[in-house]
Amino acid sequence: MDSVETPVPSGFAALGLDPGIVAATTALGYEEPTEIQRAAIPPLVAGRDVLGQAATGTGKTAAFALPMIHRIGRNAGGKRIIKGLILVPTRELAMQVAEAVHKYGRDLGIAVLPIFGGASYGQQLRALARGVDVVVATPGRAIDHINRQTLDLSHVEFLVLDEADEMLDMGFADELDAILAAVNPDRQTALFSATLAPRIRQITKRHLKDPVHVTIANETSQTGVRPKIREVAYVVLRQHKAASLARVIDMEGPTSAIVFCRTRTEVDELTQTLGSRGYQAEALHGGLSQEQRDRVLRRFRDGTSDVLVATDVAARGLDIEHVSHVVNFDVPTSPDAYVHRIGRTGRAGKSGVAITLAEAREHRMLRNIELHTKRKIPIEAIPTVHDLKARRLERIRTSLEETMDGGDLDRYRTLVEQLASDRDIVDLAAAAVKLYDTREGGADDVDIPVAPPPIVAPVKLFKRGNDVAPRSGPVQMTRIYIGIGRGSRVRPADLVGAIANEARINSRDIGSIDIADAFSLVEVPADDAPRIINALRDTTIRGKKVVVRLDRVRKPS
Ligand code: AMP
Repeated sequence: MDSVETPVPSGFAALGLDPGIVAATTALGYEEPTEIQRAAIPPLVAGRDVLGQAATGTGKTAAFALPMIHRIGRNAGGKRIIKGLILVPTRELAMQVAEAVHKYGRDLGIAVLPIFGGASYGQQLRALARGVDVVVATPGRAIDHINRQTLDLSHVEFLVLDEADEMLDMGFADELDAILAAVNPDRQTALFSATLAPRIRQITKRHLKDPVHVTIANETSQTGVRPKIREVAYVVLRQHKAASLARVIDMEGPTSAIVFCRTRTEVDELTQTLGSRGYQAEALHGGLSQEQRDRVLRRFRDGTSDVLVATDVAARGLDIEHVSHVVNFDVPTSPDAYVHRIGRTGRAGKSGVAITLAEAREHRMLRNIELHTKRKIPIEAIPTVHDLKARRLERIRTSLEETMDGGDLDRYRTLVEQLASDRDIVDLAAAAVKLYDTREGGADDVDIPVAPPPIVAPVKLFKRGNDVAPRSGPVQMTRIYIGIGRGSRVRPADLVGAIANEARINSRDIGSIDIADAFSLVEVPADDAPRIINALRDTTIRGKKVVVRLDRVRKPS
């Protein structure tokens, strides 16, 4: 039934990709393509334009990056010219996407360069002069390079607009038009966006040729309610994910849990992490032989192991009656996958817990799942050390009471009586509990840094000029002074882009923007102002270092 060691054509090979690219996905531990990849890769490989509706977390980067590398082809030596261009809204995404392209295209010798505002021009210019195959750029910096004639896009064969809705929300519509005008008109184009607002349709109409429309949006909401499952999500920082998982599991104390991961590599790493924390964790992925798989399942069923760490593929068709906890180490790539996974708990009238760890950038996926299941998934804070200690004491209390009720204590009684003759009985009991607690307790006594909460406000369009973006809930705003204005041809998008990218503020949280000749005033959430000021002082806006400080109430002329 399962694919075992023999290399059957992987799901990626079946999509028509170059074997070098398929090998890269295997090396990364991907077992099979995600839904958006299955839908978008074949038409892109065939040279079609694609309009893709998919949010972060669905595997959309690979959905365009793999076919882009396939179409550009192996670098045959000689001078590199830019054949692939990926436009993304933020610097963080530029770095992430560039890293992904690098990993996917390593075997084919693809050279990729991220270019974004705030970074030194010199370095970017040197890299461009040396030659690259793929550029991943934020619109503002791309335009600056085009204006300086340092970015030649006339040979681009494959263009991607990633998170196009975000780019428009950030006020980059004009920049996109200008960049698109500079790109080779005979290129292939893919546009990915979480929403298909009318503006996205307009861009598509103007710049894509007879696109294939692929979507993994959730039109089907027939999912039945599962009232017995407690669902919860934790927003965590990527670098603390493994620690967060361990903390959550320590807190929950599951009798049997399945932890779902995306890749084999993750499965192996997490199995080790959990093993080192005293859990009997076993790995289940497509790389196991049938015999190994059977053994793992047998041990999980009979309770020898208490945590199964699995990929979706390996867990498919698993015949396990009931698990107390399902943990999604990542937000599943589609709402259906989520429903599938959590359906493994809360069975046969029993209660169950479904836990999802999400990175802030994956909040849209969580919302898609909520829309699909028609249930709210509450977001909670990762338990603190204090919470954990309290929970451990609660468990010790239960164990002590059960042990007392169980009787059979005679052989300890004499020892206790002897000690109690010259010691305080409460001290004595406390020492016994301490001994037990330190033996049972994990070594984990540091708090895990908290991730900023995801933005859950409804998506509103950022408006240019003096308009204040509508916001949800009362937020105390303040104004900052930025020492650059119309005289330097600064545009609202430059300011929004700089603030959003440098200080990692959502553009929807930025209020009114007044641009005077020599300076600009921007309304920002008061709590974030110091961070924004520091971040902007470290960067450049339209190539200039600028003065940034809190505004001393002034009106632009
Ligand atoms: P994205 O939606 O592009 O941000 O991707 C989300 C995450 O899924 C990234 O960490 C990818 O490395 C991972 N990923 C993408 N495709 C697959 C796949 N087919 N199998 C497992 N993981 C994947």
